[in-house]
Amino acid sequence: MESFKAMAGQPFKNWQEYLEKSIVSLHELDGFFSRDLKERVPVLDHYPMRINPYYLSLITDPDDPLGKQAIPHIRELDDVCGLKDPLDELGQSPVANLIHRYPDRVVFLVSDTCAMFCRHCMRKRNIGIRPPFSSRETLEKGLGYIRNTPAIRDVILSGGDPLMLDTPKLDWLLKEIRKAPHVDIIRIHSRIPCTLPMRITENLVRTLSTYHPLYLNTHFNHPDEITEQAAQACARLADSGIPLGCQTVLLKGVNDTPEIMVSLMRKLIKIRVKPYYLHHPDPVAGTAHFRPSLETGFHIMKALRGHISGIAVPQYMIDLPGGKGKTALLPFDLKGNSPQKIQVENYLGDICEYPF
Ligand SMILES: *Cc1c(COP(=O)(O)O)cnc(C)c1O
Repeated sequence: MESFKAMAGQPFKNWQEYLEKSIVSLHELDGFFSRDLKERVPVLDHYPMRINPYYLSLITDPDDPLGKQAIPHIRELDDVCGLKDPLDELGQSPVANLIHRYPDRVVFLVSDTCAMFCRHCMRKRNIGIRPPFSSRETLEKGLGYIRNTPAIRDVILSGGDPLMLDTPKLDWLLKEIRKAPHVDIIRIHSRIPCTLPMRITENLVRTLSTYHPLYLNTHFNHPDEITEQAAQACARLADSGIPLGCQTVLLKGVNDTPEIMVSLMRKLIKIRVKPYYLHHPDPVAGTAHFRPSLETGFHIMKALRGHISGIAVPQYMIDLPGGKGKTALLPFDLKGNSPQKIQVENYLGDICEYPF
């Protein structure tokens, strides 16, 4: 529908209205793109879709890098190897929706929904499918665990997207977490600065900044996602003293070339977002078509290290199956080890010696 196309880029009165106007079925996109999307309809019986008008306005084709992240693809149904929960998050949840894998930090899943349902989501098993995570009762259980576990120093709010909670609810949640004296830092993991930057209101930022030290890790995957609005959202957060990081996912057909990745990392540091991790995608059911080879990841890391500002270089991470944790991978093979020195291949391909 032409009218929808016109609507997509138009400003709405607030972030809630953007969400209300989200499209949730493929027929709403009829006539929007030149490509026919009918064959993809069965995907929605397994994995729901949601694209808000802001993100939709950035897509020019269902198979461009932004379209691939947002629009269901039939290949989601022919992934025979993927697992629902490859990292065994359920097995490492002492209470519902709280993952305690590492001694000093937990991931607290406080929402089961997002401003956009990413096709490559690592928690496809939950999003838009499971019963609400953010009921007061469910959240109280996680809060109880945090209060009673003095080893926890770092609480990571994730989901779904924690910023889908309205600001008063988020305020209450953060206040409750801060009642545990052993919690040093709070992290919010949110894709909203990228997918719905209008959610980053003055009021939200004022609320968040009363709970320092508070960090926010966001999730940009492509340079075209760094729009004027996204830049403003990040500026607002950074101005209130919230350190910003980015957890990019390496995705086949989206960002798996050195050119795109260099451009993304450079744009991130210009909006004061520090590239934190470049995640190799987890083997999650329904996402096999996004998984590149490790060689691709190494090739890209070699194109970053030494060639662009060090602060623009993320760590390349794999998350080990069964909840064994994250490990950084380096593309620089050790060559010719000896007790006194190691030989290292640098970014130019030179073999260099490094003393112990
Ligand atoms: C990724 C992750 C963390 C955080 O890891 P950092 O390396 O500290 O960013 C914590 N808990 C779980 C379960 C995770 O998957």
